[in-house]
Amino acid sequence: MRLEEIYSTYDKIVQSGYLPYIRCRKCMNTFFYVRNLCPKCGSRDLEVLRSGGIGKVFSWTKIFRKNDTSIYGIVELEEGFKIYCNFASDVEIGDKVRVKIKSSEDGKYKVLADKL
Ligand SMILES: [Zn+2]
Repeated sequence: MRLEEIYSTYDKIVQSGYLPYIRCRKCMNTFFYVRNLCPKCGSRDLEVLRSGGIGKVFSWTKIFRKNDTSIYGIVELEEGFKIYCNFASDVEIGDKVRVKIKSSEDGKYKVLADKL
């Protein structure tokens, strides 16, 4: 797949309210960040799929600013890939969460995770 195709498929999946990811057809490795070759085996035989959005907390950290505190971390999705998220509340490693994704006007994605 070409990068432009991957980006446009990601956008369609995000617009329909789902979390996209990429799966390598050769080694079945899954990953979130948009690339046109598999980071594990180098294959370009990739497909873009829709995640169910369910995963567990892999790591987290609190970021203290003047007026608020944010919790960020990494979630490992059931499909096997990891994603960097903003957590809605305090979490512990291993907590089951649902991940939602929103696109903003500058073309970036915002990833939010809520405890289940
Ligand atoms: Zn691969």
